[in-house]
Parts: sequence; C-alpha cells; structure tokens
Amino acid sequence: MIITGQYLIPRPGEIIADGAVCIDGDRIAAVGKRDDIIKQFPNKSVLERRGCLITPALVNAHCHLELEFCEDKVQYRGNFVEWLQEVRNLKHDMMVMPGYFPKRSVRAVLSSGTTTLCDHYTMEMDFEAIREAGLRYYGFRELFEFNNHHPNLKRLRDATVCSYAVHSPYTTSAEIAQAALAIARERGVPISMHLSEMQQELEFIRSSNDDIERLLRRAGAWEDEWRGTGMTPVQYFDSLDLLAPDVFCVHLNYITSEDIEILAARGITHVYCPRSHAYFMHPDHPLAKMRDAGIHSCLGTDSYGSNISLGILEEAKLAWVEFPQITPEEILMMMTEYPLRPLRLDGELGKLEKGYLADIAVWEDCEGESFEEHMRWLVRQPTAGMVMSNGRIVYEG
Ligand SMILES: [Zn+2]
Repeated sequence: MIITGQYLIPRPGEIIADGAVCIDGDRIAAVGKRDDIIKQFPNKSVLERRGCLITPALVNAHCHLELEFCEDKVQYRGNFVEWLQEVRNLKHDMMVMPGYFPKRSVRAVLSSGTTTLCDHYTMEMDFEAIREAGLRYYGFRELFEFNNHHPNLKRLRDATVCSYAVHSPYTTSAEIAQAALAIARERGVPISMHLSEMQQELEFIRSSNDDIERLLRRAGAWEDEWRGTGMTPVQYFDSLDLLAPDVFCVHLNYITSEDIEILAARGITHVYCPRSHAYFMHPDHPLAKMRDAGIHSCLGTDSYGSNISLGILEEAKLAWVEFPQITPEEILMMMTEYPLRPLRLDGELGKLEKGYLADIAVWEDCEGESFEEHMRWLVRQPTAGMVMSNGRIVYEG
C-alpha cells in the first residue's frame, strides 16, 4: 500500500511536500515524493490522503492503563499520599480484576497517534487484547514490598511477561529493586520507576515522614528498621546502582543540582508528564536544567487518576508552553527517538525510513509549510485521522 499526503515528516527537522510512504507487509519499503513512489511501485494500491500530514507514530512513555476506573472519581486535596491511598481504595471497591481489558484507554491512546506505550501495571490485564488492538505494549509490573529484603527470584521472574516498575523509593525495598533490574537486564529490557515525585518522598528518604509511614503500615509493608538515609531519592537509588541508561526515571519533580549531575552521568531517560505535574500543583519542573545537562526527557500522560485524557500531543503542547526553548526537532524526539532508545527500538521505529516498521500517523487538514510550522500545528491536534501499527490500520477517525 502507498499512502500519500500533502506533507510528510520522515524524521525530526525534515519535511517533504507531496510526500508518500510505501508499505510492504509490516515494514516501510520507500519514502519520498508522491509521483516518484507511485512510479516506483506501480502495482501497489494508493490511499490518497489529500490535505494530510503524515508522521511517524508516537510513543507515550508513561501511563497506567489499569487506572481507567479513576476517571472523574478521584480528587486531589493537596496531599499526594492520601491521593495514592484513595486510588488504592477505589481499585479495591471497583473490584478491578486480573484479565481486565481497558478498552476505552487503549482506543484513546491509539487515537492520539500513539502506537508504542510504556505502562505501569499491578495485575495481569488482557495483554493479548491490548496487543491485538494494535498497541506495542511495554508492561512494567509495579513492585512494592518495602519490608521484603529477601526477594523470591522465581516468583519475581514469573511476575511479568515484559519488565518491572520499581514503584518508588518509599514503597519498594532496595533488594527487590536491584533484583528486578538484574532480571530485566537478562531479558534486554529497561525498567521504569517513579522517582523524586513529591515532597513527602524527599522527607521520608532523608529521615522520616508520617504520611508515608501510615501508608506502609496500612499496606502491611512498614519496615521497623527504616531510619532514613540522609540522602535525596536520586542519591539513594544511585547508591544502590539503580540508575543507568536502561532506566526510565518518571517525574523527577524535586531534584538538586547534584542530582542532575548524577542523572546525567548515569545516562538515564527522564519521563515528563506535564498535565499530571500541573494536576498535583508541583512547583516548576527542573526540565530546563536537566536539558542543559544533556539529559533526555520524553513525554508521558500518566493516568486517568491525574489526567483528563491519554493524548500525548496534549502533553507536548503544554511542555512547549512551559519550555519554549525546546526546539521543534526535540519536541518530536521526546515522543519518538528518546523513549525508543531505552526500549532498543530506535533503529526500528520513530522515523519514516526504508526498512523501519510501518508505524504511521496521518493528521487531517494540516496547516503550514516548514517543519516547525507543522510541529506547532501538530501539537494542537488531539486525534489522528488514521493510525497504522506494524503495517496494519489500527485506528480511523
Ligand atoms: Zn505514574
């Protein structure tokens, strides 16, 4: 199949007027000018999408599909730990069971032009149905057990089909986190972690915090021996050798200049969730300082517990308002190349190029001529006109 468009963005910084992409099976066979591509592949069917912009499909680097039930049901009242407890109680009340298929969320993710998703989960969902719907799903099983210092490796190995999420420094024990990273490395997949998300976490890791102690006691995970480390969460996890290029650090809302030096030296990938950040009313994010230090930030939506939609471009739009120094090329890389690197997919996805997987988004009624004009237009589009994953159409608006 050949898809033609008024404009095509094959990679950050480039734009082709009257462009086309030729798809063969699940891969891209060629990208170029419409007339050349049609001449080159005379036997291929042609899908003319006049007035459209064609781009690589996008990546959402942090989500919790499982929390679909939170939509309009939880409220933030200024205390993060209480919010967390409310989400847990609600999950219990709603009787969300294993085998769950968050159908509405999956469709919301796909409709926003996203085909690759990094997702934290706490129970087996219907992963087959999620993949069948067209999502390249990277599930990170959340680990807790703050007071468990002797992980059962067999149980840990069997706990996930993909990888692990260290829920946080205040809910996951050092030994569980280290064992999870070691297993993920054997499998060649990254791990993900919430890190330095909120003030109470900082206090708890340094010395103590009553809210977190109460949360752990209620979960039966309180550790009597815990005395605090005197360190920041970043320094604490670094002292455990948990920070590396195969790690997604989600949030990093509260960090020091020393933390930034550590994070840059370890080569972690940061995930910024602008709308979730705004929802919790955190102070301004240190993303600009991290960027200056060479740390790559990608974008995530987080969940319906702290966001009103799962559209990644809405995150890009807000990130760009908050950090206007981000270049149009970088904005695209935050949703393509940067998150794909830890997933080891950066040579396979994120560009429209011969040999790459055919993950493509088509956006209707585009405006502009240059790459930058199109990027500024694109971040205002909540939904795509058509989305393709592995050469298969998985969403049509
Ligand atoms: Zn999260």
